[in-house]
Amino acid sequence: MNLIEFTGHFPDEESCEQYIKKYREKSGIRCKNCEKITRHYWFANGRFFECSSCRRRSSLKSGTVMENSKLPLRIWLLAMLFMSATKKGFSCLELQRQLGLSRYETTFRLMHRIRSAMGQRDELYILSDMIEYDECYMETVQENQILGQLKRGKGSQKQTAVAVAAESVPLEDLDSGQKTKRCGYFKMRVMDKVDCESVNAFIRANTGGDVVLFTDKNTAYSKIEEVVATHLAVPSGKESVNDTLKWVHKAISNLKRTLLGVYHMITYKYLQNYLNEFVYRLNRRYFGKGLFERLVIAGTYPYVQ
Ligand SMILES: [Zn+2]
Repeated sequence: MNLIEFTGHFPDEESCEQYIKKYREKSGIRCKNCEKITRHYWFANGRFFECSSCRRRSSLKSGTVMENSKLPLRIWLLAMLFMSATKKGFSCLELQRQLGLSRYETTFRLMHRIRSAMGQRDELYILSDMIEYDECYMETVQENQILGQLKRGKGSQKQTAVAVAAESVPLEDLDSGQKTKRCGYFKMRVMDKVDCESVNAFIRANTGGDVVLFTDKNTAYSKIEEVVATHLAVPSGKESVNDTLKWVHKAISNLKRTLLGVYHMITYKYLQNYLNEFVYRLNRRYFGKGLFERLVIAGTYPYVQ
């Protein structure tokens, strides 16, 4: 969807309400009282849902990424449109201008909610078959240094480790014999430290276990066979590393370029959200026009605050 189509589809708040209601009903509405997805009725006059089993009422925004937000639905949808329309993403200031919002902080929170919903959506997916794994380091600063007086120089910046995994399927062209690799889904997660325990926890949480895992040689991977079917480690520094870990290394260099291009400084607290947005887009690189609708699905899905 582009901006012209958007204004045609969503001329007012009511059209946005209908659209969001449709997607909420499609993905299932979770009743906070019954603590599960139940059948809900919509009361158009009062603009609320009612749980068919306990009669608890909830608003259209309740239980979604939009919960407790005073922003109009149209602003939320517009933000989703902008955030799904560009390849590299918007800076907060730019989105604030485009949405006509008066406060930077409101835009900042709106964007981070959406990024968090993107992450929750991708958490539903588990990597399978053959997987490349490595870490990279991103420079971050502490939040109080950004909100208050920013202290540059020694001690204010920190190298934060990020775990990166990619599904990677080797292919061989039957005619030419040429070998290539096709990549599938990606995962990225901030790590407090890189050791056996945290690497294994990441692999356990993000793969089906019955996988072939490719890494370089690192002592942090010495117990990795406990959580995967097969572990293949290539010696570091060799050209074979670049070939074996082709997609994770490509993703890492793209990540660094993208984040540095849009943000001049990243707070540790929000790094995971920036990773969510980057990976969300990367995983949906072939979706084209469907990206907006996908993001609405992510945004109307039961959201964990
Ligand atoms: Zn209920």
